[in-house]
Amino acid sequence: MIQYKTDLPFARKLDATDPIKTFRTRFYIPENTIYMDGNSLGLLSKDSEVTLQHNLKKWKTKAINGWLEGDQAWFYYAEEIGKLAAPLIGAEPGEVIATGSTTVNLHALLSTFFKPKPGKNKILTDETNFPSDIYALKSHLKLRGLDPESHLVMIPAEKDGTLSEDRIIKQMGKDIALALFQSVIFTTSQLLDVAKLTREAHKNEILIGFDCSHSAGVVPHAFDKDDIDFAFWCGYKYLNGGPGSSAFIFINKKHFEKEPLMAGWFGYKKEKQFEMSLEFDHERCAGGWQISSPGILGLAPLEGSLKILNEAGIEQIRSKSTKLTSYFIYLIDQILVKDPYNFYLVALRDPEKRGGHIALKRDTEIRKINETLKSRGIISDFRPPNIIRLAPAPLYNTFQEVWEVVYALKEIIDKKEYLQF
Ligand SMILES: *Cc1c(COP(=O)(O)O)cnc(C)c1O
Repeated sequence: MIQYKTDLPFARKLDATDPIKTFRTRFYIPENTIYMDGNSLGLLSKDSEVTLQHNLKKWKTKAINGWLEGDQAWFYYAEEIGKLAAPLIGAEPGEVIATGSTTVNLHALLSTFFKPKPGKNKILTDETNFPSDIYALKSHLKLRGLDPESHLVMIPAEKDGTLSEDRIIKQMGKDIALALFQSVIFTTSQLLDVAKLTREAHKNEILIGFDCSHSAGVVPHAFDKDDIDFAFWCGYKYLNGGPGSSAFIFINKKHFEKEPLMAGWFGYKKEKQFEMSLEFDHERCAGGWQISSPGILGLAPLEGSLKILNEAGIEQIRSKSTKLTSYFIYLIDQILVKDPYNFYLVALRDPEKRGGHIALKRDTEIRKINETLKSRGIISDFRPPNIIRLAPAPLYNTFQEVWEVVYALKEIIDKKEYLQF
């Protein structure tokens, strides 16, 4: 346990001894900005710029031959990017593919994994789940003629905004066919115990999947060891792949024989795809769940950014991340909780229960306060009704920036700066 202090030299000392501090120099930090929004859109790295330029050049000079010629031929690129992401979630290379987009990937996974039977035909999720995921779950119930009102079981949040794992587990009955949760809740930053939920789900033959959009690249996972059935996540948050970049799918190898039912030719047996058979036969790996031609320009930045992540190492990244958020929480407790500041945190004081961001709450004026932060060059985001999310990204944010954000919030209240909005 570090004994934190509130002075600026202390923040600078934390930066000086940070083992991964040099990675910041590989990113483009917008000018005069403290960027605390890497959990919405991660920043561009010079490494990603290089891999994107490389692919633009290939298009310029090789055109169609880029698909099969040279190193990193486009035909195999999605698999290559999948391999780079596999260590972040503790999977084998063949279990991960970079493909599609987040919500589309969930649809593709549900086509395979939601197999309702009489008496076992409900889906279990929670009220704090990402709306897009809920829409997809409801679509799949409707597609199978099931009423979402009675077949989508939604666990409510507790009074403090968190989810109770015990309450989730109690609902894992024989009637549930599939369960879907976020690994890290996008609002509160609560990190669920993925291993425990999976163990409990499997006791009642429930297939379980996780949306890892807020943990991929900042929280290590051990999906093989934990025996998760499937997962998916986006590439543009902590993975720094760029706006709308390719997303990812993880499929446990024990499910490779199952059939992708949103089939498309890029999921066909890789070496026979161009035989153009009319009988679909999927590749027995996560790649079998691809649908269409991979968006090469949406994959290219991920090549550079995933190499950075692997170079820094996900364990080191997590270690810095929990220090950054613990320090944030310490400063908030010391400075921003008392009157007239009146901020409070979602109660996630155990770093093991927290993802990469913190959720700061205040009962009044919080939207205006978020606007004021923006006018001061501090990029955070607001999630209704009363949460400001602050994400110190371990690869490019500093302890000093955390300090500056807390003291900016203090000044905003001291001088009532938010009244101008
Ligand atoms: C960001 C995010 C997504 C992204 O959805 P898209 O389909 O890429 O727009 C999905 N789920 C969660 C939990 C997210 O935070």
